[in-house]
Parts: sequence; C-alpha cells; structure tokens
Amino acid sequence: MEETIVKLAIQKSGRLSEKTIELLKDCGIKFVSNSSRLKTQAFNFPMEILFLRDDDIPGYVEDGVADFGILGMNEIDEKAKDVTVVKKLGFSKCRLSIAVPNATEYSSPKSLEGKKIATSYPTILKNWLKSVNVNAEIHEIGGSVEIAPTIGLTDAICDIVSTGGTLLSNGLKEVDQIYKSEAALIVNKNLSKEKSAILERWLLRLEAVQVASNNKYILMNVPNSAIEKVCALLPGIKSPTIIPLKDEGWSSVHSVINEDDFWTLIEQVKAAGAEGILVCPIEQMIK
Ligand code: ATP
Ligand code: MG
Repeated sequence: MEETIVKLAIQKSGRLSEKTIELLKDCGIKFVSNSSRLKTQAFNFPMEILFLRDDDIPGYVEDGVADFGILGMNEIDEKAKDVTVVKKLGFSKCRLSIAVPNATEYSSPKSLEGKKIATSYPTILKNWLKSVNVNAEIHEIGGSVEIAPTIGLTDAICDIVSTGGTLLSNGLKEVDQIYKSEAALIVNKNLSKEKSAILERWLLRLEAVQVASNNKYILMNVPNSAIEKVCALLPGIKSPTIIPLKDEGWSSVHSVINEDDFWTLIEQVKAAGAEGILVCPIEQMIK
C-alpha cells in the first residue's frame, strides 16, 4: 500500500517563514529549506512542504491542494475560506489598527462616519465597522496603505501595526485597535482517516514544543532542614525530584516551573534556603 503523505503549505518568504520553519524543526521534522524550491519532502515525517504566498494558503487548504497551512489569523479571517483553525501558534503577533493623520481629531469610531478608509483587509474592516455601527467607504489597496492619506486618497487607514514606526514616519497616529493576530494552523475540512492520524501525531509534537517553551527546568541545592519549605513552593509535573548530595545534610532539588512565575519563585526558594540555583530551557515536554 502507498504511504500517506500530508501536504503543509507555509509562507515562501516573509514575516512568517523563519518562525514557521523553526517550529517544524523543533517538532523534529527535518527537511531542506532552500529558498528557490517550491516544495520539499521531510526526511523523517510523512509530510511534503509547499512554499507559497500567504494570501494563497487559505484557498489551497479549502480545496485540498494542501491539507494543512500555517499563516496569520488576519489572512485566515480576511479570506474567510471554509477551513478549520486547529491551533494558534503564538508567533508573528501583530494588530490591525485604524490610523488617521496627526492633525485629525478622533474621539471614537463615530469619527469615521462617512469617511474614506484605505486597507488591504476589507473583510475584517467591514465586520468591525458593522460591529461599531459606522458607515464608511472602504478603499481596498494592495500595499503601501500608509501613504493613502498623504496623497489625498482617503481620510484614514486600517493596517497592520507592530511597533507603530511606519505610522509615525508617515505622519499618522494609531487611534483604534480593531483586530489581534498571531500565526495559526489551519486544516482542510475533509481530511481522510490516514491524514487525520498524521495530524494527531504532529499535534502531539506541537503541544510538546509549546508547553516546553513556557516552562523551565530548575535545579537547586537545599539544606535538608529546608526541603519541606522549598518543595511546598515548587509545582513539578508530579512532585519535585530530590537527590542527596555528597555533602551530608544537603540535597539537590529538581522541578519544572512556569515561565510566568519564574522570578517570584526564585526569590521565594532563595529566601527559604536554596542555593546554587540553575535554570535550564526544556526542548520537549510530553505530559
Ligand atoms: P506574501 O508575499 O507571502 O503574500 P505578505 O507581504 O503578505 O507576504 P508579510 O509582510 O510577510 O506578508 O507578513 C505575513 C504575516 O505576518 C502577516 O499577514 C501578519 O500575520 C504577520 N505580520 C505582519 N507584519 C508583522 C509585524 N510587523 N510583526 C509581526 N507579524 C507581522
Ligand atoms: Mg500576503
């Protein structure tokens, strides 16, 4: 029987490509990524990788030309194709915002009533305008949206912002954030049983990578008299590991901690008597 191979569409080159390739490699999927190739096959996972423009990925996944795709939520919602969003991936975070020339007064979305707005995201903008009950004229343009007010085309723009530097250099100010985006994994709605099984295998790895990146492995030396106190502070997957040191009266305590609690926890265990604290990254974590 022929082996089932899934097709994953990713961005060929742009703001998503590097992180997407890094994520696949962190999942242990090995392949040659050469910028001149349009597709490549993984050596050690039944996956073919297609390198495409991000705009085309939702359509290809809907049609089943690709089984899976990785791209920004902004592009997924804008294209509004019939695909399933399986997982948000936490990178390429950005927002879609309304910006107006510095001199323009803006107090609420109502300030946009009857105005012209340039954007490359007409669907998302239309939905937002509807939700705030404002009528405005949408001008769809493909790129360089931020110059539209300067050249007199529109009164405002709706565009992707990450730091706001581009707006500033075009004499614009950000006045309303209308949408938040990050990269996500989309999947074709009619996957075969075999392809769904491959997706499950991949999802296990994706989850392990995501959980690992939010956690740290911590080791510390603790006088035996303080072990109870220190262990009460540590979560661990089941419970902390305790190994006696050669020096009598001391132990090495190991645990896994969440990155968010990191500094507070370090201060607390130190105050409780821990010394020589080491914090290490975790590559994978399977619960
Ligand atoms: P393509 O040639 O594939 O069509 P593109 O020019 O449409 O690429 P990029 O500029 O590479 O797109 O951005 C791809 C995606 O990365 C965007 O749709 C958005 O989700 C995200 N993104 C865009 N700008 C930023 C940013 N400044 N910071 C982080 N993520 C961003
Ligand atoms: Mg694009």
